[in-house]
Amino acid sequence: MAHIIISILLLICTFNEITETKYISTNESYWRARTELQDAEEKMHLGYKLELTSKEKLVNSKLMEAKHAELKHGLETPVDFLPSMNFLKAKSGIEQSKVFEIIKKIPKGAVLHSHDTAMVSTEFLYNLTYTNDLFICITKNTKEIRFKFATEKPKKTEECDEWNLLSELRQNKTIVDELNANIKSSFTLLVNDPDVVYFDVNEVWKKFVSIFLTLDGFLNYRPVLEDYLYQVFKEFENDKILHLEFRGTLPQTYELNGTVYNEVELVGIYQSVVKRFQSEYPHFSVKFIYAPNRKVDQTTFDQYIEIVKNLHGNYSDFLAGFDLVGQEDLGVAAVEFADKLLKLKEEINIDFYFHAGETNWKGMTDENLFESVLLDSKRIGHGYAITKHPKLMEIVRDKGIAIEISPISNQVLNLVKDLRNHPAAELFSTDFPVVISNDDPSLWGAIGLSYDFYEAFMAFTSYNDDIRVLKQLGYNSILFSSMNVAEKSRALVLFENQWDSFINEMIMET
Ligand SMILES: [Zn+2]
Repeated sequence: MAHIIISILLLICTFNEITETKYISTNESYWRARTELQDAEEKMHLGYKLELTSKEKLVNSKLMEAKHAELKHGLETPVDFLPSMNFLKAKSGIEQSKVFEIIKKIPKGAVLHSHDTAMVSTEFLYNLTYTNDLFICITKNTKEIRFKFATEKPKKTEECDEWNLLSELRQNKTIVDELNANIKSSFTLLVNDPDVVYFDVNEVWKKFVSIFLTLDGFLNYRPVLEDYLYQVFKEFENDKILHLEFRGTLPQTYELNGTVYNEVELVGIYQSVVKRFQSEYPHFSVKFIYAPNRKVDQTTFDQYIEIVKNLHGNYSDFLAGFDLVGQEDLGVAAVEFADKLLKLKEEINIDFYFHAGETNWKGMTDENLFESVLLDSKRIGHGYAITKHPKLMEIVRDKGIAIEISPISNQVLNLVKDLRNHPAAELFSTDFPVVISNDDPSLWGAIGLSYDFYEAFMAFTSYNDDIRVLKQLGYNSILFSSMNVAEKSRALVLFENQWDSFINEMIMET
């Protein structure tokens, strides 16, 4: 009984202390302390350290007016707040946003996380289906589309009974509209009600993987691949991007005469398109990360090792490093390959850029983050599960390992519904090393990086965080890229020139 009475007395005392503090704090010192606390937090935010020129301040006020209007509208009508709805539904709303209009004009530096066959606008991809000699089939079991370029009808395969020349099918007026609609929908995740159709992460990944299979026979035809890649660079450059580091699985690429290119030859094809593009846009640079599927056995992994050694020997400048891709939750844990990766690092000193922590599970899939840190990954793809690992966070911050955040990808793949709740909001609040990337823009009808920049700016930043965040993201993308020191300084000069032109153009407009 005495014990209970003492506890109650203690509680009362504590309560009195709280009331006392509250009473004292409603005077001047409270408000001073409040302002100091707010300032101290604001100083920790991404971009805070940058100072704005008077011209930048003018442009900033225009951006902030638009941002505050959208936030106010969102507060009054939460259902309209674009980062809180699935991008597949929000896309057209974003295209009407004033903030987005400005973001499209902003120089963004580099895209450091994008995948080989998912980078172009869906319209361009669709138009490529009018290329000659394209055959199409509908798979027997899954009713998915497969493509193949050939001079004569391809033979039956396990999944395809019947191939037809697409240009001939398109002559048939009774089926052409439905056929074209099917082709378009086979290239993207776009549906009317994504929250119902893709009810969980595995369901959306099924469609995600099927799109890549559809694109396989189509984009792996060398002439189409070259047109595709050139257009990717064009769209990225047009979206104010000056450097790209894309990941690729290096699938078998073919010619009509039956020639099939090996991995080293394919990277040579990539590089030739880069060179052709640079003759028109010399400021644009590209690097490549070899990133095959993670869901493989040890024998296949050994083959990856041989390929990457070969690539490293042939393309030491163009090849940025090595990674593993695919749905992390259902893939093989990186720890299974740790010994081989350590040996590889010792042998050829290659850099790693691992996908890790693209998961909502704790103490399970997110353990891949340990391999990323221990194997000295230069950046971490997605990596948002890091916020559940305080020790790893310390190391990652100290070593300057950037987390590659792809907001739209995480939302569309059902990992986070409302982007305001994305762990990146915490990373932005503490000026953690982060970059914003687009992952697979063509799969959700996005172009370039502006859509992801918009989502990040509207969902991850605080009410008063301003244009400095966007400028800092541009700087980060260059600093955390795989470019060497000379390449980085050149890119920084280019970025700052682009930035000054953007500021001047915005001022001219007002
Ligand atoms: Zn990715």
